[in-house]
Amino acid sequence: MKKYNFNPGPSVLPEITLKNTAEAVLNLNGSGLSIMEISHRSKDFEAILKEAKDLFREILSIPTGYSILFLQGGASLQFTMIPYNFLNKKAAYLDSGSWANKAIKEAKLFGEVQVVASSKEQNYTFVPKNYVIPADADYFHITTNNTIYGTELKTDIASPVPLVADASSDILSRPMDISKYALVYGGAQKNLGPAGVAFAIVKDSLLEKVTRPVPTMLSYKTHVENDSLYNTPPCVAIYACLQTLKWLKDLGGLKAIHKMNNEKADLLYNEIDRSKLFISPLTAAEDRSIMNVVFVLKPEYKELEEKFLELAKSKGLVGIKGHRSVGGFRASIYNAMPLDGVKVLVQAMKEFETQA
Ligand SMILES: *Cc1c(COP(=O)(O)O)cnc(C)c1O
Repeated sequence: MKKYNFNPGPSVLPEITLKNTAEAVLNLNGSGLSIMEISHRSKDFEAILKEAKDLFREILSIPTGYSILFLQGGASLQFTMIPYNFLNKKAAYLDSGSWANKAIKEAKLFGEVQVVASSKEQNYTFVPKNYVIPADADYFHITTNNTIYGTELKTDIASPVPLVADASSDILSRPMDISKYALVYGGAQKNLGPAGVAFAIVKDSLLEKVTRPVPTMLSYKTHVENDSLYNTPPCVAIYACLQTLKWLKDLGGLKAIHKMNNEKADLLYNEIDRSKLFISPLTAAEDRSIMNVVFVLKPEYKELEEKFLELAKSKGLVGIKGHRSVGGFRASIYNAMPLDGVKVLVQAMKEFETQA
């Protein structure tokens, strides 16, 4: 049976990414060597790294004056690196989900943190709005897509101070105006590649703001100056990211994928809104994520949760159990999830309703 992988991360990747990476693990470009075995300073790998960065820049229209980094430690280490490098006196954070909350916790180790708004008391059922960004903050940190709660900030906001965005789970899902940001970062394992590599798109002028001595490996400057080759990068993971970037370019880039993502999300949200069993826990429809669709059973049908998971499993639908902090279900429909996968899910939801 065909399986559809709705896992939140690590998550579904394009078939071609898996196939090409598997091939390169056995034999890279007919060299008789594995991508796992070659030097990260070899011509072969340098070409892979360069192509990955060039494609990332091209697809996301990253302007000059920004560097693209491939780092380790996941998005979570960037929660630390960001304040270590850039929080001199005070930073502003938007508390829109658990990941934002974790970023805030790290920032507090380095200075004053002003949380401009929070939806925590409402279990993050919306993205806070109508807040004021303090003009004296070193930077303002947002999470563009709240993976756990299924809310998304779909516009590139204007900020009077450098804007820093955790875009782990919606990078490359829509066109983005990078010039509005000073730093965009995330783990690769949601929309780009396997776990083990993180990306950071850094405005070079931001590096001038570093005043504190920063350990070498935690300094953005180190990785910018050494072109992500200060130490051994995760070569296999970067190779896989390159395959996803090629796939994305071939299918028409961000405009094309955004249209497909909206189509998938609309199909699923329309069914949730129509259904007499399911409901969206979000309080603001405009915040509905096009990457992670969260839905729950209405209170009167709550006891059917296990049954729906069983039905989903029997249809080859994997990974739709909701996060423990929300309950219910979450369908992560990242770039690589085909429309057919969402159609099968919607069909299962309809079928379930006839049995309930
Ligand atoms: C998954 C995720 C993270 C954590 O990423 P790691 O690479 O596991 O550290 C951080 N932020 C968001 C928005 C995420 O979805």
